[in-house]
Amino acid sequence: MFSFLRPDLADLVSYTPQPEDFLGKQNTKQEQIDRLDANENPYDLPESLKTKLARTYQEVIAVNRYPDGSHGKLKQAIVEYTNESAGVRHFHPANISVGNGSDELIRSLLIATCIGENGSILVANPTFSMYGILAKTLGIPVKDIGRDPNNFELNLEAASKAISNEDPPIKVVFVVHPNSPTANKLTEREISWLRELPEGVLVVIDEAYFEFSQSTLAPEITRHPNWVVLRTFSKAFRLAGHRVGYAVSHPMLTATLEKIRLPYNLPSFSQAAARAVLSHRHELLQVIPQIQKQRQKLIAALKKLPGLQVWPSDANFIYVRFQGNEASNERKMQEIADGMKARGTLIRNTGGGLRITIGSEEENKHTVQRFQEILQS
Ligand SMILES: *Cc1c(COP(=O)(O)O)cnc(C)c1O
Repeated sequence: MFSFLRPDLADLVSYTPQPEDFLGKQNTKQEQIDRLDANENPYDLPESLKTKLARTYQEVIAVNRYPDGSHGKLKQAIVEYTNESAGVRHFHPANISVGNGSDELIRSLLIATCIGENGSILVANPTFSMYGILAKTLGIPVKDIGRDPNNFELNLEAASKAISNEDPPIKVVFVVHPNSPTANKLTEREISWLRELPEGVLVVIDEAYFEFSQSTLAPEITRHPNWVVLRTFSKAFRLAGHRVGYAVSHPMLTATLEKIRLPYNLPSFSQAAARAVLSHRHELLQVIPQIQKQRQKLIAALKKLPGLQVWPSDANFIYVRFQGNEASNERKMQEIADGMKARGTLIRNTGGGLRITIGSEEENKHTVQRFQEILQS
């Protein structure tokens, strides 16, 4: 209807993470919905930390003033954590850019590299959908090279071919370590392949689930200036509601990301919250081993169910599907997802598999019970 709009946007569908009726219920905490569809941490911040943050809001933050547009103190805290978590000392604020969620950084990376027919991106589905979605909104072609259907390793042969042949050329390779929705870490073979990529290709290593896998490629950025590591506060650090992510990269790439972002991309209160969780990180990350233990319990319980295939996980979610042909698998997975929702558990049917977040012990009990109920009915 509007001839001023780009015609290629007509076919895109806007991202609707949760149905609104569930969002409403989430707001009144009484309604018990197990929200296991977005890989969030099941625990809110401790009351004491929330009180402290409320005091910061009342006494420190002037909301009539713009936020710190340089993210100075937050970057300093991120540097300390990044060095500590990677076992190195060489990162500085010049290596860090901060985004309104890592989603913003993904978009900035795409703007910095491919927009305007300058390049294509390479992804390996199933993977995090935002790479493809954001690329399409910017008119950037997406090449999907796929994965081994059994262990979800990248199809490296197809990937190498795409790097040599694609037009416009592949400028960015997106990998997730560990991958979502399939929960597997990069293998040594895959990492070696990434190391061999030409410097004209940017390698984005998304470590959104680093705290659960404890495996990071950040130390290699000094050897590979064409690598960038993305992290987020939305998962292990419990701040999905605050929208804070960061990128660790060569200072020249960081400087470019800084040029692209909106000047006040991160509200004062979100910066304060991110600094608060970093300074309480040792206490907050104490739940990680518990979640890992719950993960093993959930995997063991679901493995006992007939016909269900359950994969190992290095993250805070698991990936399952049914044995049998694709059509019957799709039908069963939709039945499960609908049945779970009707019983009060939200999980995600990614098309090809079900992704289930590890929740609290009680939520995980519900998950197993409800799976059993649905499969027996
Ligand atoms: C959840 C997630 C993110 C985090 O996105 P934010 O915008 O920081 O909330 C990034 N990458 C992957 C693979 C994720 O699963």
